[in-house]
Amino acid sequence: MHIRPSGVSPTLHGPRRPRAGPRAGLPSAAMSTKLRILVVEDESGIADTLQYVLKSDGFEAVWCETAEAALASFAAEPPALVVLDVGLPDLNGFELFKRLQDRMRRGGAPEVPVVFLTARSDEIDRVVGLELGADDYIAKPFSPRELVARVRTILRRSQRGAAAAPATASPPPAAPALPFAIDAERMLIRYYGRPLELSRYEYGLLRVLVQRPGRVFTRDELLSLVWDESSDSFDRTVDAHVKTLRAKLRAIAPEVDPIRTLRGTGYALAEDLPAAPV
Ligand code: CA
Repeated sequence: MHIRPSGVSPTLHGPRRPRAGPRAGLPSAAMSTKLRILVVEDESGIADTLQYVLKSDGFEAVWCETAEAALASFAAEPPALVVLDVGLPDLNGFELFKRLQDRMRRGGAPEVPVVFLTARSDEIDRVVGLELGADDYIAKPFSPRELVARVRTILRRSQRGAAAAPATASPPPAAPALPFAIDAERMLIRYYGRPLELSRYEYGLLRVLVQRPGRVFTRDELLSLVWDESSDSFDRTVDAHVKTLRAKLRAIAPEVDPIRTLRGTGYALAEDLPAAPV
């Protein structure tokens, strides 16, 4: 889900606002203007780095140190995307996210994707659990290049969604059809309609991957998301479980390998899976 900014008309803005065009700051087809990224982060070192990499990649970066400042900035001019730190001094990032959603949902303006910055694994759990509907998250410490790549991917996706939908109604872009169906209550995942018999960790791994097709998860991320902190787990633990998971997937669709391996990095769910098992 995206935050929908209130329908602030450009005519309500003051004349001194530096706008290159009537749709500046929105993820529109007019790519001649810089897309505006709102960075909500109270640590100035991180904020500086973020602004630097975003600007050198051709974005306009706007920095807010507090949730209150972010709410004001968002209301004044909705950005193309928000990078939102979970640990803020006045409100936590989750609460700010909800307030932005509540406040903006009534408007009919384009949706604004949100990427969370998280420092703790329990925060990552909440984001990945998708209860919040954020578009993605980056775990601290993060690679600035990775963040910019993530931002670009999300903006491309949201621009495709905006182009496909009429301007007046903007439902969240439909997820690509996947051969997976997660039944969280039963801790069961179906693959091409057939239930997989998975161990607890296999289930956890596959669930994380399926919930974010195309998103690359490092082994460390997968360890912190799926395994207990107390358990003896290593990178090889992830690899071993991916191996057994793949065998179970192959048993259903021998020619399909839905889990991509990114050498030296981690794993991702393939986005272009056949509609029927091959
Ligand atoms: Ca913080």
